[in-house]
Amino acid sequence: MSTMAKLKHVLVIPSPAQGHVTPLLKLSHCIADYGVKVTFVNTESIHAQVMAANPGLDDESRRIKFVAIPDGLETDEERRDSTKMVDSVLRVMPGHLQELLEQVKQQSKGNEDEQINFVIADLTAGWVLEVAERMGIERAGFWPASVSTLALTLNIPKLIEDGVIDNKGCALKNDLITISKDLPPYKSNDLTWSCPQDPTMQKDFFRCTSAIPGYSKHSTSVLCNSFHELEASACSVIPGALPIGPLIVSASLFHLRGSLWSEDATCLNWLDQHPAQSVIYVAFGSTTVFSQEQFYELALSLEQIGRPFLWVVRPDLTDGPVTEFHDRFLQRVRNYGKVVQWAPQEEVLAHPSVACFFTHCGWNSTLEALSNGVPLLCRPYFGDQFLDRSLICDVWRVGLGVVSDENGVTRRHEVRTKILAVLGSDEIRANCLRLKEMARKSVGKGGSSLKNLQGFIKDMIA
Ligand code: UDP
Repeated sequence: MSTMAKLKHVLVIPSPAQGHVTPLLKLSHCIADYGVKVTFVNTESIHAQVMAANPGLDDESRRIKFVAIPDGLETDEERRDSTKMVDSVLRVMPGHLQELLEQVKQQSKGNEDEQINFVIADLTAGWVLEVAERMGIERAGFWPASVSTLALTLNIPKLIEDGVIDNKGCALKNDLITISKDLPPYKSNDLTWSCPQDPTMQKDFFRCTSAIPGYSKHSTSVLCNSFHELEASACSVIPGALPIGPLIVSASLFHLRGSLWSEDATCLNWLDQHPAQSVIYVAFGSTTVFSQEQFYELALSLEQIGRPFLWVVRPDLTDGPVTEFHDRFLQRVRNYGKVVQWAPQEEVLAHPSVACFFTHCGWNSTLEALSNGVPLLCRPYFGDQFLDRSLICDVWRVGLGVVSDENGVTRRHEVRTKILAVLGSDEIRANCLRLKEMARKSVGKGGSSLKNLQGFIKDMIA
């Protein structure tokens, strides 16, 4: 048998969250395009949500098989409790994964094409790489955030050793943090495990993040959802980093991205009715939670700006009930505002009517905006979102940040002033168009990311 025929089956595993499932599913589609069989493993809870929100996903994309393993919590147990979730995943999932791999091995005895011979795992679920290594399966890591974030993360042991952070991840100095002469210094409040509003979550984040340098040793390459031209200096300090992004799928596969909520496509018709570059798109990703006060303030900001806006208000966006206020608000803004529970975000950002994007700076949202040349207004909440804001505002200069008051609330005057500034900035628009062009080139024919991805797949199936 030729070596080409040997590898036909890859197992792909994301961490159980929207911002991880989406890019890894996109990568799976790219790999499947090369005729490689992909088994995509979610936790049972995420699997159920994805299948409910995307009817037909399983049938239509037969080239990708979806499999679920338990995360150790009861079906109706609260998964937002980060400590409980992290403990449970680490306790039960390595065993379940090993069982799954052994089961496939048994079932595919005598049929080499069915055997799983490569594993691609989210580095934030790096325990997968340990399991694969123990079982003698080849593997690669995947990094779902910026390469700059990865560079900082891989330097955690050194940062502790040098007394820059303590072993709980807290910055010991207020100075800029330098990890390499080839990389611009990081701000001490851009530490990518920061959760300013939730110390317990920060502790769990740091626990998980500080395990990543160890996990990364179980794989020689790390596929990154970024592109070389965007983060050249960060790429240069991580020898195994392989930028293959921005991961995009063709429009015909948009509905197969694995949203955890049903996408409300009525907003696309609504956008069709608006002039070019007139609508403010407002969305804060899959996990951000607002205080009621922040919610009211943002609603009043959008009302008072008076421009058309499309706002994603997930049913679990706020930490308390806001229905009464929300209903009255919707009445008042009905002529120029549209609110949906979950949008087909990539189509929204690609729509000519969208003028700017008020975002929490999640990495996927950031890349989606860059790829579509949409200027950003930044309000990060936790984790790598702070570093992404600095990249957006200070390095690439494609957006502006908003500040909050002492209660952590961004006030309406601030939102209005900055939105108008973003919309009026020729410099920001020009930078957006330049980066959009670069992003498209990197994944187009002969582009750096496409070459990296093709090379990776070629090596994998060799
Ligand atoms: N997203 C979406 N519809 C929405 C809001 C978000 O499809 O209404 C998608 C968005 O396109 C992105 C992902 O959800 O791919 C959010 O990932 P990101 O890294 O931006 O933020 P996170 O949810 O991880 O905080």
